[in-house]
Amino acid sequence: MSGPQVAIDLGRIERNARTVVERCAQSGIKVFGVTKGMCGMPQVARAMLRGGVAGIAESRFENIRRLRDSGINAPIMLLRSPPIARVEEVVRTVDISLQSELSIIREIARIAERMGRVHDIMLMVDLGDLREGIWPNDLVPTVEQILEMKGVRIAGIGTNLGCFGAILPTEENLGQLVAHAYKIERLSGKSLDWISGGASSSLPLLLEGRLPAGINNLRVGEAILQGGLETFRDPPWEALELDACRLTADIIEVKKKPSRPIGQSGYDAFGNQPVFPDEGDRLRAIANIGREDVLVEGLMPIAKGVRVLGASSDHLLLDVQDADPPPVVGGRLAFRMSYGAMLLAMTSEYVEKAPMHDVEDYSGRKMVSISAEPSAAGILAREATGARLEAMNFDVVELADAERPPSGLIRLTAGADRRIAHTALAATARATHSFGLIWIDSIAALMPEEIEGIDLPEASVLARMLGLDHKPGALQPQLSPENIVIVGLRHADPAEARVLADSRVSAFTMTDIDATGMGEVMREAIHIASSGTQGFHVAYAPEVTEFAGWAAGSGGLTVRETHQAMEAVALSGGLLSMSVSGFTADLEPRIATDAVSFVMSAFGKRIL
Ligand SMILES: *Cc1c(COP(=O)(O)O)cnc(C)c1O
Repeated sequence: MSGPQVAIDLGRIERNARTVVERCAQSGIKVFGVTKGMCGMPQVARAMLRGGVAGIAESRFENIRRLRDSGINAPIMLLRSPPIARVEEVVRTVDISLQSELSIIREIARIAERMGRVHDIMLMVDLGDLREGIWPNDLVPTVEQILEMKGVRIAGIGTNLGCFGAILPTEENLGQLVAHAYKIERLSGKSLDWISGGASSSLPLLLEGRLPAGINNLRVGEAILQGGLETFRDPPWEALELDACRLTADIIEVKKKPSRPIGQSGYDAFGNQPVFPDEGDRLRAIANIGREDVLVEGLMPIAKGVRVLGASSDHLLLDVQDADPPPVVGGRLAFRMSYGAMLLAMTSEYVEKAPMHDVEDYSGRKMVSISAEPSAAGILAREATGARLEAMNFDVVELADAERPPSGLIRLTAGADRRIAHTALAATARATHSFGLIWIDSIAALMPEEIEGIDLPEASVLARMLGLDHKPGALQPQLSPENIVIVGLRHADPAEARVLADSRVSAFTMTDIDATGMGEVMREAIHIASSGTQGFHVAYAPEVTEFAGWAAGSGGLTVRETHQAMEAVALSGGLLSMSVSGFTADLEPRIATDAVSFVMSAFGKRIL
């Protein structure tokens, strides 16, 4: 790890979501989890969904596309009205959108009708915060006009408070919202699905038991992502966990210096004339993050005795005189962030985003279960695969198909062709809530074309897993294209290259590997596959490796590079399952022998 990083603890996000969802459920309220503070990271959305949110709410199209591309098919709410030019995308991709302008609603209705759809809208009412919303006096005439439109349905009514005008939600203003809702219901003769009483800032009212009856939806971001740090200042909601997102940065200088600058003072880099109290000589540290990456005023050092003094565009200045132990150059400092600081850090391309899970403790004995198609079973037996794994301290266990594998168990599957990877991954998908895939192969298997009479052509296996062929067998939501990486690619049909470019799958070609080296490629590949997942599957096809005199592997990885890739897998500790294809009766024995020793390397075989 180097450079500034936002570490995102998905376990905390899931637990915070569950805390909010369960409390809201007691009052008949369904929660939409707001991911805009996290740039629509699919891992975050999935953590919220595991925590029980009814849907995801987002303000930006880029983020919504990212969520949908990751196979998240939960209801998505668009939090911000679209520009006219993007109305079609709204109708196509989101289930409900917040609206307050008649002209845009009219355009939505027109386009939805043309597409043969009815789009659900939530009408926003301005109760005094002066951001978006219909002014209450205009509500009835607006609703009357919308009721004439066939392409939209008023699915709900909502309000937004505490954003621009810093107006607090109260029994009174939210009571007005409920009254407006009943008025709309009388007018339309239909009941509304949603009366949406705001965001995190409405939760304190709920906990005090003063949220007006009738409200049945909240759109919650901050309380889940930040543990209510800003929503619940005093008193905090103890059940929520802080620090789901933390910023860390490297310390690049530590020196004792005077607390007042020396010389004639002018303006700083941002046009201000700062004033410095004289506190004598103090130990100061500089961290490698600045105003270009984060809202410095929103940074709260987690270590005691550390104080933010200020920042320029890429230097953060800290007083560390009272820190115990004192920070050292090369160390790192961690910060809690305000919502504003988090937003900026998440959108800075200089800050790495690292979603992580609570690491499960796999200590104790390691277990492996082996399954193989008949031709492959012969090869595995000949190579004494089970015995060699036992010699490496694995328990080789039999696992019934339907059985849920114990945690820490790694599954090894071998078969005649690449379709075995689909079988193996489907089992991994049943055993985890999120996993990545390192596809070590000469082809991407993303061919969009179908072949008469073959249910799943080998060249389309990955396309099937991603649901790109619209057939059953997609492995979403557990497997997101953002967590798939191809290593060793050497052939791609133009149509396939297009599919690859449009997907969020990463690929390292032989050219990339020649240029960067296998070590670096695998470091990145493992990072991609483990980012926010519980671990990953490795799918290996012998064609990716160049075995002397074997035409199928010509131009591929060397045997040594293949071992290097597998050793990196073993070291990462992230292997959940592995599949090997190409194990047919006519595979040359020497190639099978090498392929099985690659498996051993992936399971951690070392020379010494
Ligand atoms: C951002 C936003 C929310 C979520 O706000 P939090 O304070 O993060 O809970 C809800 N509704 C709308 C319209 C928003 O823009």
